[in-house]
Amino acid sequence: MNQLTCTGPGVVEWREVPEPLLQEPTDALVRPVAVARCELDPLLVLVGPTTADGFALGHEAVVDVVAVGEGVTGLPVGSLALPSFQVCCGECPTCRRGHTGCCERYPVLSDYGMQPLSGHEYGGMLSDLVRVPHAAAMLAPLPAGIDPVAVASVADNVVDGYRAVAPHLRSRPGADVLVACHGMPSIGLFAAQSAVALGAGVVTVASDDEQVLTMAELVGATPLRTDFAGRAGRWPIVVDCGVDPGGLQWAIRATEPEGVLHCVSYYASDPTVPMPLGRLYTLGIDFRIGRAHSAALLPEVLGLVAEGRLRPSDVTTAVVGWDEAAERFTEPAVKLVVAREEAHRRS
Ligand SMILES: [Zn+2]
Ligand SMILES: [Zn+2]
Repeated sequence: MNQLTCTGPGVVEWREVPEPLLQEPTDALVRPVAVARCELDPLLVLVGPTTADGFALGHEAVVDVVAVGEGVTGLPVGSLALPSFQVCCGECPTCRRGHTGCCERYPVLSDYGMQPLSGHEYGGMLSDLVRVPHAAAMLAPLPAGIDPVAVASVADNVVDGYRAVAPHLRSRPGADVLVACHGMPSIGLFAAQSAVALGAGVVTVASDDEQVLTMAELVGATPLRTDFAGRAGRWPIVVDCGVDPGGLQWAIRATEPEGVLHCVSYYASDPTVPMPLGRLYTLGIDFRIGRAHSAALLPEVLGLVAEGRLRPSDVTTAVVGWDEAAERFTEPAVKLVVAREEAHRRS
């Protein structure tokens, strides 16, 4: 079968690889029909593979269920579903607490499309066929009537934006929200869109990127042009989203006393970025950081989409054909989706 593979730094090409097989009664085999590019993907490609085989790409997808093991119920062959991008069992104590991105049965960072991070190749969604273990836990059925292309990014970047605001708006209903967006624009825009959907007060997106500021209005937020110097005000809920350590310091200054600052960033270029702990302590700022838990979050976010409250497609800026993926996967776009022809007929 064909698999979009990163074979060198900046090099993406189709490779012929063996088809995966059902191995356990709880497995499913799926055929991805729409795949979104995550904010992390261009960085993974830029750095390149760690082995001569390269690594499979793609981890945000809507898939067609092609075959299931005898122990899998509720996932009919021929139905559409969204796989968790993190491989997880759904049954260990950590998964049961909802922390499915830290499943105890798998090594840390066991994800599709990210072999260099975990050292294990689980396959990638830009393939003809993918094995999904623990299918009942890892596959969320796509609600009827939803365009698969519109929700291709939900398994990662959409749930990532959502979880950066949802718990904080539950404890502070109607609060104003600031998204400090100095990179990874789709996650920041999904956070803003989620805050609007969840009934936040005024939702502000601060950025130095004209396209992000324009798109902020499209998702119902107020744009705030900034160069991330000085201070623009203080907010009770702040999302830090990006790649610039100076942007993080600006977001800290923009968090009000006893407010919450939720960081969705890894700061790969400088993971030793200093933190002003004295300021966080003195002002009682609740600093949160960590990965989204895909399997646990997928059903509630898909529910919001099904109710028409969340429209992830508003953030999509490019839809390219499956056959164009090798040439176009790394082109500039806020949110790029690769779709098979059949995906457009499946809503
Ligand atoms: Zn991702
Ligand atoms: Zn688990």
